[in-house]
Amino acid sequence: MSAFALQSCRDSHRVPNGSDAVAWLRERFAQARDAHAQLRIQGAGTHSQASSNVSSISMKDHAGIVEYDPSDLVVTVRSGTPLIELEHALACHGQMLAFEPVVRQINTVGGAVALGWSGSRRPYAGALRDHLIGIRLVDGQGRDLRFGGRVVKNVAGFDVARLAGGSRGMLGALLEVTLRVMPRPEAEVTVSTACAADKALALMLARGQGPGLLSGSVYVDGCLFLRYSGTSFSVQHALTTLGDNFNQVAEAHELWRGFVHQEHAFFSSKPGETLWRVSVRPDAPLHASTGAIDWAGGLRWCWMPNGNHELRAWARSHGGHAAPWVPQVGCDFHALSEGMTGLSYGLADIFDPYRIFDRSALQPVVKESAPCV
Ligand SMILES: Cc1cc2nc3c(=O)[nH]c(=O)nc-3n(C[C@H](O)[C@H](O)[C@H](O)COP(=O)(O)OP(=O)(O)OC[C@H]3O[C@@H](n4cnc5c(N)ncnc54)[C@H](O)[C@@H]3O)c2cc1C
Repeated sequence: MSAFALQSCRDSHRVPNGSDAVAWLRERFAQARDAHAQLRIQGAGTHSQASSNVSSISMKDHAGIVEYDPSDLVVTVRSGTPLIELEHALACHGQMLAFEPVVRQINTVGGAVALGWSGSRRPYAGALRDHLIGIRLVDGQGRDLRFGGRVVKNVAGFDVARLAGGSRGMLGALLEVTLRVMPRPEAEVTVSTACAADKALALMLARGQGPGLLSGSVYVDGCLFLRYSGTSFSVQHALTTLGDNFNQVAEAHELWRGFVHQEHAFFSSKPGETLWRVSVRPDAPLHASTGAIDWAGGLRWCWMPNGNHELRAWARSHGGHAAPWVPQVGCDFHALSEGMTGLSYGLADIFDPYRIFDRSALQPVVKESAPCV
């Protein structure tokens, strides 16, 4: 057995920054293949779980902005760059990442892309995947691959770059990602009204999705919150069409951050209960346990007694899926259907035929009665 295979989960290798990174990764991947060892690609490692037989490759030293011309509304960045630094660089030019990622002190751009999480702006500005227009990746065969590019209309053939959104390190190590950025709105105002969940859902649906002045709609604690973003004039005008039931919310930034980052009290753990993340068609009816609604109706959060898994079948019957969720930690697996499991394995095999990358996030088909956490 080689020295590499003997290494334990505590081994963490840090990729060098700059041009040496590809050769360094190729060597590690070849060693892992020869030793039949498993690797987990990490960003800052804020969430990667320890495992006795998986060594980690940390990308966090591979950092820095490669190219950013604000007039192009596109940025190319190394995957280990802390999101907070990227957000700061964009803010200096009045721009932002419109998919509203979770931004903490150290979490990386590569980690955000590989998780594919998008905040409340998603139904109006697009998901992370919609903003991901190019990637550079070293795959399991050591190939230095580039997909997509730096212009928004660059797609001919398969749009492979977007596969990296939510890929959780199973296709290879992301070296660089190119993201579309958006101008920060001149004005942003949040209003709220107290109402029942079914009325809130009806109001969300009536306002539709897609680009426009509405940039967030959330129902929590018996209140519907609507966020409007745009020029001062257009936002003020939109507010006049809402009627008297709505009040302007002070400290709205805290509310949206609290919801995107799951720091809002709704997400505080409840003894004997499990939080479920339910992704369904926005016009699906309300389940009796719905506690909060996001994404213009497409994302529902439900607290359920531990061991109750009925939401899985309910979500499936409404065109979606449901999974237990740990607030601020997430879900370590994709609850995939049989067809999607086969497709995901097939895709991972193209990039990683020797199966050196940890695939524990690919959960096999989930049966209604079986707990998966
Ligand atoms: C609302 C909310 C939801 C969250 N959801 C999740 C969740 O679903 N799952 C979760 O793990 N954490 C989740 N978190 C926890 C944490 O915020 C994220 O894990 C964090 O953004 C990840 O950043 P990181 O740089 O530490 O990545 P890491 O924790 O190091 O890695 C996260 C994932 O990305 C992959 N990855 C990282 N960098 C690369 C790269 N360069 N190339 C290829 N793959 C890479 C890793 O293999 C791993 O699968 C969530 C947090 C919040 C507040």
